[in-house]
Amino acid sequence: MFSFTTIQAYHKNLLENNTSCTDAVSFYLQQIEQHKELNAYTEVYTNDALARAAALDEERRNGQPLKKLHGVVIAIKDVICLKGKRVTAASKILANFESLYTATALQYLINEDAIIIGSCNCDEFAMGSTNENSYYGKVLNGIDTTKVPGGSSGGSAVAVQADMCMLSLGSDTGGSVRQPADFCGIIGIKPSYGRISRYGLLAYASSFDQIGIFGKQLEDVALILEIMSKPDEMDGTMLKSLPKQFSNYQNESNKKYKIAFLKQAFHHKGIDVEIAEKITTLKNTIEQQGHTADEIDFDLLDYIVPAYYVLTTAEASSNLSRYDGVRYGHNSSLKSNSYNEFITNNRTEGFGAEVKKRIMLGTFVLSAGYYDAYFNKAQKIRRLLVEKISEIFATYDAVIMPVSPSTAFTIGEKDKDPIAMYLADIFTVFANLTGVPSIALPMFKHSNGLPFGVQVLCNKENELLMLEISNTILNKTK
Ligand code: GLN
Repeated sequence: MFSFTTIQAYHKNLLENNTSCTDAVSFYLQQIEQHKELNAYTEVYTNDALARAAALDEERRNGQPLKKLHGVVIAIKDVICLKGKRVTAASKILANFESLYTATALQYLINEDAIIIGSCNCDEFAMGSTNENSYYGKVLNGIDTTKVPGGSSGGSAVAVQADMCMLSLGSDTGGSVRQPADFCGIIGIKPSYGRISRYGLLAYASSFDQIGIFGKQLEDVALILEIMSKPDEMDGTMLKSLPKQFSNYQNESNKKYKIAFLKQAFHHKGIDVEIAEKITTLKNTIEQQGHTADEIDFDLLDYIVPAYYVLTTAEASSNLSRYDGVRYGHNSSLKSNSYNEFITNNRTEGFGAEVKKRIMLGTFVLSAGYYDAYFNKAQKIRRLLVEKISEIFATYDAVIMPVSPSTAFTIGEKDKDPIAMYLADIFTVFANLTGVPSIALPMFKHSNGLPFGVQVLCNKENELLMLEISNTILNKTK
């Protein structure tokens, strides 16, 4: 039977004729069928994936050298455009919308001969922390189906967790790659803002959004990151310093690092006791290995969730105004007497409750009477956070934090308390507010049987260092 460990091992097997791309795709199609109840996919590209695999097998048999992602089976969150395929953002408003072009980052993977196997379920327009806000129904956590997989990229996380693809793409505006990775026990990386082109990624909050990667092995995640981190003139917010050799990170792993632990984070009142304990133990282990591990003060922690929700809902209210059902998207069958009524009907039927709530919140914080009280204040907090993090990184190589205050929630648990759900984003939104890269590493098992890990943050553009430190933590402290 086909089994996957790393891309390198897979390629070795291909070259030795022990397996084929067709074997790989067939295996994943079977897995998808077998785990249907987890609801990880919104669409599976069965025929395209099989045809592509057969073509790649043929090329290999004809002696063509393997490209970097030859036959690597990848799933994409249903907010990333692939030409000719539906992209729905798990929303009714885009239920029948077909992409007119392919996202640049995805095209880079396809150019290296990756096989795209399907699109993954998510929270509608990437808004949520549980993957319960989807027009296509909720996604279940493969470790315990009474639990959520996290969100918003829950489908992409479960697709990797339950071996329904090799790696997957998600998007991370405030933790939507790292938190589901944590809840599912896999790796999830959010690069620096501007590292990966956002062209062809459906926007939630444009100054926060980045495409991120899910995988089980650091080296594979690093390779995908490296391939996607190329310039794109269609995204004016990209970093100027691209590209970097992220897959070379192992070479430096004997260095000693200076790591900061935010006092207010792991002594936070809302944090699960076992999670706090394990992080303290990790801190001690890191110290014993000769690294510096300091507890530092971070008194802004309680401001970051409010600032995040004010700014992201403001951006979302503007970004989502394009979905009016006039040019594309859901058309209501109700009779409308005016243009405004027509748009109102389309949007009322097309958007789900969480999206509507955020559009209203966003328009409110941007309204003339409240702009200074909310939007402006939140921007000031963002500025303070950026200053604070640069101060920290002037002394330290990395910050380590929990990913989430708890392990995966029970399905339905947070339904009645949206504020509690928003507050659970406390550790992840920081990296998006400041634009720094962050990675969630699976490390521990809770006594409730669920996985959890830690998050490593480095200074902007320092993904290489972040991967090196992650490698050290995964290999030497686990
Ligand atoms: N849970 C956060 C939110 O609901 C994160 C979403 C995301 O990163 N896309 O906004």
